[in-house]
Amino acid sequence: MMKTKLLQNTNEDLKIAAELLQNGELVAFPTETVYGLGADARQEDSVRSIFAAKGRPADNPLIVHISDMGMLDGIVTEVPEIAERLAKAFWPGPLTMVLPKCDAIPEVTSGGLDTVGVRMPSHPAALSLIRMSGCPIAAPSANRSGSPSPTTAKHVMDDMDGRIAAVIDGGLCDVGVESTVICFDDDETIHILRPGLISAEDLEPFAAHVYVDEAVYTQIAADAKVASPGMKYRHYAPHAKIIPVDAPDHAAFAAFVQSQKQEGIFCLLFDSDPEIAGIPCMRYGDSGREQAHFLFLRFRELDEAGAQTVYVRMPKKSGTDLSVYNRLMRAAGFEVITL
Ligand code: AMP
Ligand code: MG
Repeated sequence: MMKTKLLQNTNEDLKIAAELLQNGELVAFPTETVYGLGADARQEDSVRSIFAAKGRPADNPLIVHISDMGMLDGIVTEVPEIAERLAKAFWPGPLTMVLPKCDAIPEVTSGGLDTVGVRMPSHPAALSLIRMSGCPIAAPSANRSGSPSPTTAKHVMDDMDGRIAAVIDGGLCDVGVESTVICFDDDETIHILRPGLISAEDLEPFAAHVYVDEAVYTQIAADAKVASPGMKYRHYAPHAKIIPVDAPDHAAFAAFVQSQKQEGIFCLLFDSDPEIAGIPCMRYGDSGREQAHFLFLRFRELDEAGAQTVYVRMPKKSGTDLSVYNRLMRAAGFEVITL
């Protein structure tokens, strides 16, 4: 076990973090989506230690974070025009593009694939850290594999204390769910591998076709060949059992939950829902934007409150809401109660 340093978002501390990265150590840092667990994407041993610290399957590729377009040169062999247009519109921001990788990026980083996911985060601490270190930073979410992604430095410490060199505390993440991941089937087709804040609707003006991978909506077998390996794994789950309930309205949801009353029961409601008598409730917002911001935070709070079974009001499947739907369904192993 090593001592994990808790660093602040100051120039002095970012410099310490940048040196740790250059020396091959692991540093967790805030981004606008969730906290990332970073290593120099070009150092094989460092990247391997990310997988060890997280307990992450080796075939689940990492996203490489950059601070300016010039860094793409050492990471990908080609930037198609459509990618350039998307970068102009959405970077820095929560969009990851899968492109053909250079030899400088080892296969550990890309999970054995000949492509690599790249993104330019907008959080100032993340951008400074990449600039100061001069490293393209490979970073998955900074949680133990399978747990909810961390949206505060405390969440990172809860999962990673003693396993990594340092965490930079940048407060609560703004977006709250991971980036939108896309690849290009051809020059005019955007294929959404993982939904995020940037929705299919946001991407439509940039391509003739935009479609969402079926792994976003359904459970994929562990031995299946999929475009985005990360989508196979059960993910994002708290210890409590998460049960999404597709109810026509709050009254139907409340009546169902009342009939299921048991030890350790909790509800996760929309902000506009009234209380349910005798059942402890938490809330996670009304809009997709709010729900994305609060979902993982509430998952961790539910565990802290001793929840054992959590009935959750179903988010919508359109726009940013699809990212919330996807994370919730993955946490629930794709089992839903439909009323
Ligand atoms: P995480 O690091 O936990 O945010 O997960 C990264 C996500 O991006 C996973 O779902 C990966 O499958 C996906 N991803 C990263 N790189 C690639 C790639 N080269 N091809 C397809 N999907 C990728
Ligand atoms: Mg993750």
